[in-house]
Amino acid sequence: MSVKSDTYRISAENIIKKIKMRGMDAAYYETGEQAKEAILAEMPEGSVVTWGGSMTIEEMGLADAIRNSDKLVFLDRSTAKTTEERREMYTNQTAADYFLMSSNAITMDGELVNIDGNGNRVACLIIGPAHVYVIAGMNKISPDLDSAIKRARNIASPENNVRLGKEHPCTKTGRCGDCLAEDCICNQIVITRRNSGGAPGRIKVILIGEELGY
Ligand code: SF4
Repeated sequence: MSVKSDTYRISAENIIKKIKMRGMDAAYYETGEQAKEAILAEMPEGSVVTWGGSMTIEEMGLADAIRNSDKLVFLDRSTAKTTEERREMYTNQTAADYFLMSSNAITMDGELVNIDGNGNRVACLIIGPAHVYVIAGMNKISPDLDSAIKRARNIASPENNVRLGKEHPCTKTGRCGDCLAEDCICNQIVITRRNSGGAPGRIKVILIGEELGY
């Protein structure tokens, strides 16, 4: 064990307590591989699984594992090409058994901060799918809400804009320029401070002792 992984574990143990006080479930794994195996083992055969698109979930190999699974039904939003197909996909996603996403930032007090373009990802986080896994490397942890929003706006969003090849102020300077561009991907900023009361544990946060995603 390195000092870094020990520190991640100590920090995660504290954050998990805070997340559970907010009605969400939470767990910590040292590696993405361990987290992937644990998540796959929790989803019963025949489950309909969908996701919000996530570099974290791609990098840890979970997206491919579900794509190639003969036990799970994967609703992959990237397969929807037309407006009608995307609309149908979003409708079907809300009825899925499992929704997978990362979080643009998580505070040390257990709040989730997410920025979304179309809003379908944060919509499914808030309501719809029966279970939501929020999967994040410890690089997504921020000390408090203010720094979490700054992280989401000035690190996660610019990196996603560069990945998508967007021509926005953030792709020229590396930080958010608070643009109002037609194709801005930062239209919804959602703070999840508590799991909705009617479904305790619906959201499960998986922390991973690695740097994953943006
Ligand atoms: S609001 Fe605009 S400038 Fe800021 S990160 Fe989003 S796309 Fe970039």
